[in-house]
Amino acid sequence: DIDADLEPLEFAVSRNLNGASDQRRAEILADPGFGTHFTDHMVDVCWSVKGGWHRPRVQPYGPLSLDPAAAVLHYGQEVFEGIKAYRHADGSVHTFRPDQNGRRLQRSARRLALPELPVPYFLQSLTELVRADLDWVPAGDDQSLYLRPFMFAKEAFLGVRPAHKVGYYVIASPAAAYFKGGVQPVSIWLSENYARAGKGGTGAAKTGGNYAASLLPQSEAYEQGCDQVVFLDSDGNVEELGGMNVVFVHKDGTLVTPESPSILDGITRNSILQLARDRGHKVEARGVTLAEWRDGVASGDIVEVFACGTAAVVTPIGTLKGASFEDQQPLGDLALSLREELTDIQYGRREDTHGWLYRL
Ligand code: PMP
Repeated sequence: DIDADLEPLEFAVSRNLNGASDQRRAEILADPGFGTHFTDHMVDVCWSVKGGWHRPRVQPYGPLSLDPAAAVLHYGQEVFEGIKAYRHADGSVHTFRPDQNGRRLQRSARRLALPELPVPYFLQSLTELVRADLDWVPAGDDQSLYLRPFMFAKEAFLGVRPAHKVGYYVIASPAAAYFKGGVQPVSIWLSENYARAGKGGTGAAKTGGNYAASLLPQSEAYEQGCDQVVFLDSDGNVEELGGMNVVFVHKDGTLVTPESPSILDGITRNSILQLARDRGHKVEARGVTLAEWRDGVASGDIVEVFACGTAAVVTPIGTLKGASFEDQQPLGDLALSLREELTDIQYGRREDTHGWLYRL
């Protein structure tokens, strides 16, 4: 393990003396929404070709000062992660499989020619921020503190090459239960005119450009009365939604998820599939064509289709709509039962037999 003899970073902590009052924080946590309120602190670590990772800080949350020539603003050299911290009944706070997010951030960084943050530094950055903002981790049902690590090219240089100066940050935002009043099946618009990724492209990386490319098709989905959009690759294989992976449940109990070098390797998906294996289900990762999906639903061979990701955990797909068709999807109870098992582990209501929780 190349990280084994790595010295931990020494974070300089400067407390936010103008943070939210106890009363203001309580108001926010009572109704946090998603992604609009931020905690009092942020993590900020520098990287340069000459100095490596340096100047690790926990500092008051606030605007960044950026040179207008910073490479990220021109060429989009950027990667990020999304992970939640959960408060257990005994008050302790845990994240879920953060090593997986740390490794994925490294893979994303490699593809975007950014430096790879060692996983121990990644874990440390989450711990430092959550300890500084512990009171911001909500305790309500299905609430969490959403953590957003991100890294971008901040060197002021307009030449097209990997930047020599990079910033790594973590911010945090309290998150409400995704579904109020129970999990609702979502309707999905099939994007036939736009792709989010191409062969050899950046589809497997968590980088801003992929999300920018998904916004127009997502608007098309809304115009069509759908909640989310699903993308195909150029061979007609199902890829994923704008921010979630897809899983098909077959009549014989087999779970199938699309495998492709251009989709994001989802940690929720991998965990859900492991729980299904533990229950004795067969699991396959392989190419799935749109025809296989539609025919499987029509013949009754596919008995449930669901989407999964950190934000909404698991969401049954109720409808698939394209320009020339609209297929109702069969609804079952496996998706919701796996969702419950996973969230029970995350919130400490069930034994963590895989060692997935990481106490902050
Ligand atoms: N696909 C995309 C494009 C995503 O943005 C996400 C959310 N990170 C996922 C899948 C699901 O990944 P995870 O389960 O790790 O959140």
